Amino acid sequence: MNNTLPSDMSSNTAARILVVDDSEKNRNLLAMFLTRLGYSASKAEGGAAALAMLDQQTFDLVLLDMIMPEIDGLSALKLIRERYLINELPVIMVTGMSEVEGITRALELGANDYISKPFQKDILLSRVRMQLDICRLYKDVKTSEERYSLAFSASSDGLWDWDIVTGKVFFSDHWHEMMGISPNCAFDSTEQWFDRVHPDDITALRLAIEEHLKDPHRLVKREYRALHEDGSYRWMQCRARALFSDSGTPLRMTGAQTDISASKTFDPITGLPNAAVFMDRLQRVYAHARRTGSAANLALFSLSMNHKEKVTSALGPAGYEKLTSAIARRLSETTAVDDYLAQLKEPAFVSQLADNRFMILLEGVPQESAELLKIGEQIQKSLASPFAIFDETVYCTTSIGIALPSGANDAVDELIQDAISAESIARKTGEDITHIYNPLLHGKALDHLRLENELRHAIGNGELRAFYQPIVSSADGRLAGSESLVRWQHPERGLLSPDHFIPIAESAGLINAIDLWMFRESCQQYREWVSNGASPKMFISVNISVQGLGIAWADQVLNAVKEFGIPPSSIHLEITESIFAGDIESIITLLEQLVDLGISFAIDDFGTGYSCFSYLRRLPASYLKIDKAFIDDVVDSEKARLLVNNIIHMAHDLGMKIIAEGVESREQAEILEALGSDYFQGYYFSRPVAAADCVMMVPAGLQA
Ligand code: C2E
Ligand code: CA
Ligand code: CA
Repeated sequence: MNNTLPSDMSSNTAARILVVDDSEKNRNLLAMFLTRLGYSASKAEGGAAALAMLDQQTFDLVLLDMIMPEIDGLSALKLIRERYLINELPVIMVTGMSEVEGITRALELGANDYISKPFQKDILLSRVRMQLDICRLYKDVKTSEERYSLAFSASSDGLWDWDIVTGKVFFSDHWHEMMGISPNCAFDSTEQWFDRVHPDDITALRLAIEEHLKDPHRLVKREYRALHEDGSYRWMQCRARALFSDSGTPLRMTGAQTDISASKTFDPITGLPNAAVFMDRLQRVYAHARRTGSAANLALFSLSMNHKEKVTSALGPAGYEKLTSAIARRLSETTAVDDYLAQLKEPAFVSQLADNRFMILLEGVPQESAELLKIGEQIQKSLASPFAIFDETVYCTTSIGIALPSGANDAVDELIQDAISAESIARKTGEDITHIYNPLLHGKALDHLRLENELRHAIGNGELRAFYQPIVSSADGRLAGSESLVRWQHPERGLLSPDHFIPIAESAGLINAIDLWMFRESCQQYREWVSNGASPKMFISVNISVQGLGIAWADQVLNAVKEFGIPPSSIHLEITESIFAGDIESIITLLEQLVDLGISFAIDDFGTGYSCFSYLRRLPASYLKIDKAFIDDVVDSEKARLLVNNIIHMAHDLGMKIIAEGVESREQAEILEALGSDYFQGYYFSRPVAAADCVMMVPAGLQA
């Protein structure tokens, strides 16, 4: 832009003024005067010459004599105004004293001002300055407007400019484009815009704008969903700022709208649509299905990887992230290419609801269990082949729960919950299991979940009880020891037997704590019995779940033994054959260490599990408890007697003593005694009872 200020006003370039006058004297006088003031003056002797010069050079102002031969001032003015607008090139008419009519005409034709001859220097100067100033201002505004409109069209944001006084809003072309609206649409009010903002987001947006108008320091920066013409919502971010008058009245507000859908709708790790998108989609599909009565063709799959903790601790967080995104990729690929899924009208919608929880929404699928399970299996099969994560080959198993719309779940939240609870049943069932939600099982699952939560607090709340069942020596019929059996005094359900909560404790990782509590409780009870006169040779037999077996557990056991001052020889620990499923070598080492300290082991429930004799030989156990299932039949079945006989001989050969479990009758006891059983345990002698009821725990012993 030209700087039109004269040099005496600190300009770099002097304003260029064209003096047009047919009188050479006047021309020179004016030009000299202007030059002295620092302007750059050029001279033209008539209208034609002036127009020719205007074609060649740029000028900032024209001083135009009214009366000239050839082309007079008014005609020249008309021609100038054909080329330059009144604000682009100011023209000051130079007139004689009495040319009032001419002046009016000139002003009509677009003269900016006039001065009369003979002119006074200061008047001339102030008029010239004034016109140059006005012109400069106009040019400034124009440039900034040009810049503004350039910004409007170049910005990747959608811009808007709201004239608060008139209420009109100008929305840029790009704004229209972002919303899928034709730029020709009569879209010019905030209300039209707000109508397109998601109902859940509009209040906050309005509030942000209102607050900013009240207090300019509170900036407008809000995220909201805007309804695109295609019916979908896009995530937008709006930043805006208002312009206020000197008195503080808001005049206009301008803002930018940025499409942030990508960051809002996709999980950054998996690249899958996130929870918000999933919910939006599910809601729409579900509502549509309900309306058209085809809700029955929907199926929702919930999938997650099993043993997430193990995977994370093995791979680290970065590896886990990689695995998650690899699973996501495989899910997307599988659902896209699977023969069955690919022919569905709507492609499977795979998304991520939360960490390690994928959702697959299928539309138009038959509601037959067999078909759905097949789809689940197919998906699991695709995830079963190994993943290469960094340098590791990683295998992972998954659990899938499937839920179908039914009368029982009439909101999408419930449908999701159903899928998730079906998934958790699948996980409890095994690896790579697909389970379809079943309202009957659901009740059980809920029950399970509730019990699990209550069990977490049972120890702290003092709700566990130790019961004791006598173990009798067959040699003299006297009490040899007792087995400690846990009970849960549930505040509402009453006294619960272990079958009701031990499996839950095992799956919830609580069994360790329970076993230890029982062990310590038994130690304390032993001390009490002995101090009341019971033989210190009596043993206490405590059940230990395989899950707990480890160095830390052994430490805790030894601490308790020391703390309560129990002779280790009085301690029997009952383990089941399921330890063979674990890392048997290290378990054997651990047991041997405890045996060296004097503690004994008993193999519990013998005959129900793996029954692996070769391992049995390697276990440092001193007692073998024959399961009740064999004892039940010894009276009636020759075969059972033969079996029990063999077990007893084998155990004796290995140096183990036999405890027969579940002895309910004298007949059974007699047969077992004849077969060589060393100890008996069962209802025939006593049921498990609370410590207070253990009157038999006195030195006299127990005679059946
Ligand atoms: P188990 O170790 O085989 O314990 C023997 C079970 O047989 C006990 O059931 C006992 O009450 C029952 N029983 C004993 N004699 C007879 C009989 O003559 N007839 C019949 N019908 N049953 C008899 P209980 O107390 O219900 O315990 C069930 C299982 O729970 C136990 O089987 C054991 O595996 C587990 N358990 C109990 N307490 C604990 C514990 O503190 N820790 C762990 N890990 N498991 C425990
Ligand atoms: Ca036992
Ligand atoms: Ca047993």
